[in-house]
Amino acid sequence: MPAPDRIRDIFIERASLPLEPPFHANWDPTPRTSFEATLVAVRTEQGVVGYGSGDTMVGFEDYEHLFIGEPLMAIDRHVRALETITFHAGRYWPLEAALWDAIGKSLDAPVADLFGAATHSLPLYASTGAVAQPEERAQMCQRLREEGFGAVKIRVPQHDLETGIATIAAIRSAVGDDFEIMVDLNQSWRMPGDTRRALDATQVARFLDRCREYRLFWVEEPLPLDDVNGLESLRGRGTRLAGAEMVRTWPELLRLASDRTLDVMQPDVVLAAGMLRMRALADVLHPTGRHFTPHTWSNGIGLLANAHVAAGVGAGPYLEFPYDPPTWTIERRDFMLTEPVRADAGQLTIPRRPGLGFTPDPDVFPLIGEL
Ligand SMILES: [Mg+2]
Repeated sequence: MPAPDRIRDIFIERASLPLEPPFHANWDPTPRTSFEATLVAVRTEQGVVGYGSGDTMVGFEDYEHLFIGEPLMAIDRHVRALETITFHAGRYWPLEAALWDAIGKSLDAPVADLFGAATHSLPLYASTGAVAQPEERAQMCQRLREEGFGAVKIRVPQHDLETGIATIAAIRSAVGDDFEIMVDLNQSWRMPGDTRRALDATQVARFLDRCREYRLFWVEEPLPLDDVNGLESLRGRGTRLAGAEMVRTWPELLRLASDRTLDVMQPDVVLAAGMLRMRALADVLHPTGRHFTPHTWSNGIGLLANAHVAAGVGAGPYLEFPYDPPTWTIERRDFMLTEPVRADAGQLTIPRRPGLGFTPDPDVFPLIGEL
């Protein structure tokens, strides 16, 4: 038996893409004029290099020593170490993605296979981020349908539910019944400094009652997650309740799964609670007819990390695919990759390559590109 390969060093490099025109996300009061990406690289003593991205990794240098010299394959130990750090500092889950990428390369297997290989192809929903006028959004959905997408997610601004209802009506009228519409109210967390209060349960209940005829597939983050009674009052209004994209700990996720607060749980593997625990979360949700399908709004690397886990555990029925041209294009989202992640007739096929199956662009990350 050969000696286990160990983590030799960890590198972090940052890049920024100017955004002109800016991207105005519904969840951010400030239009974005640049898009930042952080790449994490793990190199082993035997020269295997794995990459991850997602959260910023700010402050990780203080904890890097907890991983250097440890066996690459000891993923359970690495995840528990990351969980201890989360309490004190950041959400360093891009490191877990880099570790899985290295493990997959070391075993010559796609990461999705290591998570269960439930499927190799995932139906996508086009996830929009900006708020558009009803007719504009309806035309976009017609184009999505022609491209092969079977579902879209739109954002409804909390201060303008009327435009949201008009947009949903216009989409349904444009695309017919054979197309799913999800709605995100973005009410469960805020950007730093955004102190606006959330809508209350009565306002959201009236909104859902008026949307009922348009048959929403889910309403996402309809209320803050702590408003358990409010969420309960939204049941029976003709749609599923989705959320938990930024829930940061496994015990919190398990509680939400156990008390059946949500029909659809969406923790992002590179921003919230990591990859490994999602196997267990899916195992808790699926037997009771509920869904695990991760949030993937970071960049192409984060999308692939989530997609591998999703394909491995059989997540669905749709995976989030951030795509909202002209201000959120695939080229912007994946500017750090040599090959952007593209949809094929509304599906994402998991790359049949070892690890997560991507190459970071060495022009974007020149230091790590030299490894
Ligand atoms: Mg969301």
